[in-house]
Amino acid sequence: MSENWTVIKLLTWAAPHLQKYGVTTPRLDAELLLANVLSCDRIDLYLNYDRPTSATERAAFKKLLIRRREREPIAYILGEKEFWSLPFMVNSDVLIPRPETEHLVEAAIAIINQHYSAGGTVVDLGTGSGNILLSLAHHFQAHAGLNWLGFDLSPKAVEAASKNARRLKLEQVVFSVADLAAVRPKPDQNWNIILSNPPYIPTAELKKLAGEVRQEPQRALDGGLDGLDYYRILSQRISSLLPDGGFLLVEVGDGQAEKVKALLVEQNPYSLDTVLDLQGIERVVIGRWIKS
Ligand code: GLN
Repeated sequence: MSENWTVIKLLTWAAPHLQKYGVTTPRLDAELLLANVLSCDRIDLYLNYDRPTSATERAAFKKLLIRRREREPIAYILGEKEFWSLPFMVNSDVLIPRPETEHLVEAAIAIINQHYSAGGTVVDLGTGSGNILLSLAHHFQAHAGLNWLGFDLSPKAVEAASKNARRLKLEQVVFSVADLAAVRPKPDQNWNIILSNPPYIPTAELKKLAGEVRQEPQRALDGGLDGLDYYRILSQRISSLLPDGGFLLVEVGDGQAEKVKALLVEQNPYSLDTVLDLQGIERVVIGRWIKS
């Protein structure tokens, strides 16, 4: 490339290049990657579209383009993903937070406000990057009575979540390695709300998904033969984990809500509810248990 490769010229070249490799948002991705190389915001690219680029900058851009055309998710390349308007550090050890998971955060906020204004313990099983729990802890920052515990089977995920807690200055949130199928409250603990966005994609479907998703930790996505393995485990354990009045909130996949509710009904909940996402899909199932 010669010295007259300006910002706009690079973008005009890079976008069709990414498109040729099947990237579905080629222009946006080219802009994000170039902005990353030039350490500026996307908007600055347009304010400086005639700016010439150096050979070093172009080489760095090219490296990122190659990663992207090999379908590495943009969030892993940039090392960050926004969720609940907060910047989360992400890497290939954790699932990239999805916007629909914000409905789980929203539902938890409503329950905490209504039932635990005096305090309580909120637990996230399969925490990944820690996005759910840290978003909640950020929202309730001024509330000293709330405790936050996040667990993940993967030590590397726990490392990522703990790093996010430090970055967001939310060190009151404690992350530990534990299996959702075995973890339980310590004798001096009471868990009031259990949250989970468990793996829920049926194994066979996982193989059909886009190249990007295949680069995310498969263990964080694979819900077994019918996608419901973790809901089965959670529903069987729930009454021994929650005290009187406790809540379970789980995210579910498209079309899974009825089946998940059927699993929870077997555990005699006091109430069961669902929350719709922006597309009208039942996205969150909420159960409450009151001991009779
Ligand atoms: N809790 C994380 C999220 O919602 C990770 C979920 C998972 O790994 N299945 O993004």
